[in-house]
Amino acid sequence: MTPRELSDRVRAAKEDVERRGETFYPGPSRIHLASFPPKERWDDWVELDSRAWPERVERRYSLVPTTCFNCESACGLLAYVDKETLQVRKFEGNPEHPGSRGRNCAKGPATITQVTDPDRILVPLKRAGGRGEGKWVEVGWDEALDDIAGRIRRAIQEDRHNEVMYHVGRPGEDGFTERILAAWGVDGHNSHTNVCSSNGRAGYQFWMGYDRPSPDFANTKVMVLVSAHLETGHYFNPHAQRIIEAKKNGARLIVFDTRLSNTATHADHWLASYPGSEAAVLLAVANYLIQHDLYNREFVRQWWNWHEYLACERDDLEPSFDNFERVLKELYRDYTFEFAAAESGLDVSVIEDVARVIATAGTRLATHNWRSAAAGNEGGWQVSRTLFLLNALMGAVASEGGTFPNAWNKFVPRPIHTPPHPNTWNELTWPVEYPLAMNELSFLLPHFLKEGRGRVDVYFTRVYNPVWTNPDGFSWIEVLTNPDLIGLHVALTPTWNETAYFADYVLPMGHSSERHDTHSYETHDAQWIGFRQPVLRALRERMGERVTDTREVNPGEVWEENEFWIDLTWRIDPDGALGIRQFVASKQRPGEKLSVDEYYAYAFEHSVPGLPERAAALGLSPLDYMRRHGAFEVERRVGPVYAYEVPRDDLQDIREDQFGRVYTRAPKPPSPNIVPHPSPEPDAEGRRPVGVTVDGKILRGWPTPSGRLEFYSRTLAEWGWPEAALPTYLKSHIHPDHLAADQMPLISTFRLPVHIHTRSANAKWLDEIAHTNPLWIHASDASRLGLSTGDLVRVETEIGHFVVKAWVTEGIRPGVVACSHHMGRWKLGETGQRQLMATVNLDHRGASWGLTRRGGVEPFASSDPDTLRIWWTDVGVHQNLTFSVHPDPVSGQHCWHQAVRIRKADPGDAYGDIAVDTDLARDMYRRWLEKARPADTHSPEGTRRPFWLLRPLKPAKEHFRLPEPRHPAGVGPGSS
Ligand code: SF4
Repeated sequence: MTPRELSDRVRAAKEDVERRGETFYPGPSRIHLASFPPKERWDDWVELDSRAWPERVERRYSLVPTTCFNCESACGLLAYVDKETLQVRKFEGNPEHPGSRGRNCAKGPATITQVTDPDRILVPLKRAGGRGEGKWVEVGWDEALDDIAGRIRRAIQEDRHNEVMYHVGRPGEDGFTERILAAWGVDGHNSHTNVCSSNGRAGYQFWMGYDRPSPDFANTKVMVLVSAHLETGHYFNPHAQRIIEAKKNGARLIVFDTRLSNTATHADHWLASYPGSEAAVLLAVANYLIQHDLYNREFVRQWWNWHEYLACERDDLEPSFDNFERVLKELYRDYTFEFAAAESGLDVSVIEDVARVIATAGTRLATHNWRSAAAGNEGGWQVSRTLFLLNALMGAVASEGGTFPNAWNKFVPRPIHTPPHPNTWNELTWPVEYPLAMNELSFLLPHFLKEGRGRVDVYFTRVYNPVWTNPDGFSWIEVLTNPDLIGLHVALTPTWNETAYFADYVLPMGHSSERHDTHSYETHDAQWIGFRQPVLRALRERMGERVTDTREVNPGEVWEENEFWIDLTWRIDPDGALGIRQFVASKQRPGEKLSVDEYYAYAFEHSVPGLPERAAALGLSPLDYMRRHGAFEVERRVGPVYAYEVPRDDLQDIREDQFGRVYTRAPKPPSPNIVPHPSPEPDAEGRRPVGVTVDGKILRGWPTPSGRLEFYSRTLAEWGWPEAALPTYLKSHIHPDHLAADQMPLISTFRLPVHIHTRSANAKWLDEIAHTNPLWIHASDASRLGLSTGDLVRVETEIGHFVVKAWVTEGIRPGVVACSHHMGRWKLGETGQRQLMATVNLDHRGASWGLTRRGGVEPFASSDPDTLRIWWTDVGVHQNLTFSVHPDPVSGQHCWHQAVRIRKADPGDAYGDIAVDTDLARDMYRRWLEKARPADTHSPEGTRRPFWLLRPLKPAKEHFRLPEPRHPAGVGPGSS
């Protein structure tokens, strides 16, 4: 609606009201009802003060965009800054954001409760007593930075690069800190990914080179979600709105979820399969499509690497597509509906119905799996691999309504400085046992340190809480309290957490309205970038003031990380002698530190196609445009990149291998979009892979070794996993074959839609909505065990037990129990959040550890009167402490599902009790380690891992080589 049409409507409404003899109030927006404030009026937006009701008191706001930091979706927010007080009053959605389109989940607006949290950390703190004793003193930023920088400098000068480690939970940025680590020359990146999504990633990466799906939900015909994605998945708010749009247009929704989640309630077909059996069901669907010739033959012929499969595995056959189709039918014929029904416990008719629906999708099949079944099970990476098999069969790959790879729907601008790859390999994070791991073996760090594989001199945790989030948290406490293993622990966090108690420094970092970052995520078939910014800084600059340090506008001494890392790096190499300082130096002001304005101005001006022109049309610089709008759409539709022809300039002195992979001597053209791509190996003469020949044309193809979609993964076959090289079914560690008669699976992975793993304990609105995590148990199981809702239950794991309350429900599959991991926060004394953290005793004798509860939460007086209105006392139970580590031998993912025994609590048990034996935890670690197939006995080429696989902070290529003589005699370059 144009402004003129709006004012016509307002005038008509006014006349209508006045005809009735009433007084017309045009609404504070002056345009009557509007979904969103039009951006032309963001400098001076008028709204009624809801607290003044029934008086009509108007408040004037400046609206400043930023980006939510409360999950990975990076939705746009608008901060409403009161023009009188210059304080943020609330956050709502940013209609200018192409991914979230003005919409948010509850956690977005709840940002204001984190900003105003009376318990937040506002000043840098230094440990005063022993680690974990809870004694802190305030310390100046300069003192903390000099101490930390000095230690890092010494480690670098003494060639102890691998003793510097940065362990990140939610990155919330696109590679800034990885580049800082590269500037230091350390291979020190550690992430949460192996307790999150590595199994999901592996299934996609072995197929297409890229490790995430990007379904085009809005335009699809059939959707398959292996998760509660609609309410809690990756990018769920941007996806949820598009899923619902598709449903309104008649698309069918199929949901695999053992629980009746909110997502399952929206499904047309809800499959409550036995956990770990999902791949068996998906293979039965695939088999139906294959045996009935319902798949897209042309797509399979052109784009699967069937030539390579036949050459490697069936050289008895002529390499023809007809022969491959015959083999394909043989390979999958045993995955019948009856087989899948026996594995999953679903009815044959249910699986058959779903198969028939999927067969109607054509190229409009949008599928998604990220955590959930993939993250829960050993071999769970075959869940995403078999799910993508359905897309690959239907040709629903990078098609309208199909599933794209993430990298084509993501844009990361080129930064002002690009440090080289580190000249080192860190075996504490990338151990030889897991050559195909998708990410760092982060959750095994305590065991590696205790085994003497190395030490960490400076350990940063950043928005990460391994004591609480990871399995086996007591083993983390054992190493965090041992200064011989971890020399200095620096916790970078906006809010208290269980790991920060065991730090030497706790440094206060900003929430989403208090820091800079850029983002881009695969929310749909497009490319966009979002800008997170300190909103008060942006507003002051809009008002003509100059702000050079974000601490000038943030509460207390809260800083932003960009400026923190730049400053720390400068102090590590104050005179530039180490060659580090150059990567945080200004180009405009030689000899001075880079400013965040220069950093982002460079990226937006030089590396975002279309942004400079759009900004100039409005009389703005690209940086000012982003400060004003908060997001920019780089491309509206990206399409099937794999099928685009390779430009002629890219084809110089080309060579084609026997399967059609084309290599060129043309130099790689620079791209403004530096989203991480896999790097398939060059050929023996140094040509780089550039495309693949399909029916006589050289097309771009995929960043896999073959250039095609890899139905057959030669990488898996050659690196020790030939039995898993095709999309197949691997029995989970909680398969009934592996459980004792009195054990049942515990699903511990599900999220509560209104909480964040470890950062929402201080968000009062969210705490009020959800604050406990009872054990879901089916009525038939409860009856067998003599349990009623509210009864105390003892849940026995492999290494200990926890005591929780039962919730008897029909909304879960019989024989399975579930407990959300989002609850059970705790503090050891007064320090910590008081809205959602129980106060506990930490008991410890030898390897025996326990938590017992001293108290739940209660009302308290603070700067926020609402804390006197806290009515809940129960804050749930911390179950992850009682889980041993389960590294998947291929992907490295911690396989979360637990085999547990459930019984009524003992008379002496109390709610929230936790007991663990860390000697048992070590035994379990060793047992799982034995499943691994290490590089030094399985590498076909004497390297630590295949070079082409994605890896954060990739070291220089020569460091991929295993140190001599670790690879077996006769195995080496060229011997494969
Ligand atoms: S989905 Fe919710 S928590 Fe996540 S970024 Fe969007 S508004 Fe924030």
